[in-house]
Amino acid sequence: MKIVLATGNKGKLREFQQMCKEEVTPFSELLELFDIIEDGDTFAQNALIKARTIYERLGEEFVVIADDSGLSLPLLGGAPGIYSARYAGEQASDTENLQKLIEAIKEKGVHSTPAYYTAAIAIVSKYGEFVVHGWMHGDVVDEARGEKGFGYDPIFIPNGCTQTLGELDDTVKSTISHRAQALALAKPIIKMLQSK
Ligand code: IMP
Repeated sequence: MKIVLATGNKGKLREFQQMCKEEVTPFSELLELFDIIEDGDTFAQNALIKARTIYERLGEEFVVIADDSGLSLPLLGGAPGIYSARYAGEQASDTENLQKLIEAIKEKGVHSTPAYYTAAIAIVSKYGEFVVHGWMHGDVVDEARGEKGFGYDPIFIPNGCTQTLGELDDTVKSTISHRAQALALAKPIIKMLQSK
């Protein structure tokens, strides 16, 4: 069974391909790109919406994986959370979202505050639906540093580190990230589905 990733996000795709030994095909290679309405209330619901939508279009011989993820700040009541990709507006770029978050942190009068990333990975196949989660805790700062990673990485300092994910080597993120934690739980499920 072919493993298909239900994302158009280049940063996520790159990380999945780095972390997965199995071959992962982005859905854009098999289907025309189209918008999926993510109207769930949780990361898990939105990940399932994405995976189900692609699975329904592709059919039974596929295992579809979707990641829904985001960054939450207790200082901001959990924002941007499930709205991370559209924090500065529906079509906002990563840079616009990052700038809006930096402004929100500054408005609170702090230079640094605790934050955590969440990733929900949904797997949909003819044998059923599964969802697993991973988290990465740290602090966000009020200035962007480094070019690595994507999204909010230039302001996120993982616990135990002194640099942002924008500055740290990719191998650090791929060992400790929310996506890596969730993928470690997803892999045995994917293996089990492929062996059927
Ligand atoms: P989604 O594609 O709807 O799941 O939205 C994910 C959004 O969360 C991205 O556009 C980023 O803004 C943010 N995000 C999720 N994971 C990461 C990460 O590993 N680094 C930086 N930003 C992330």
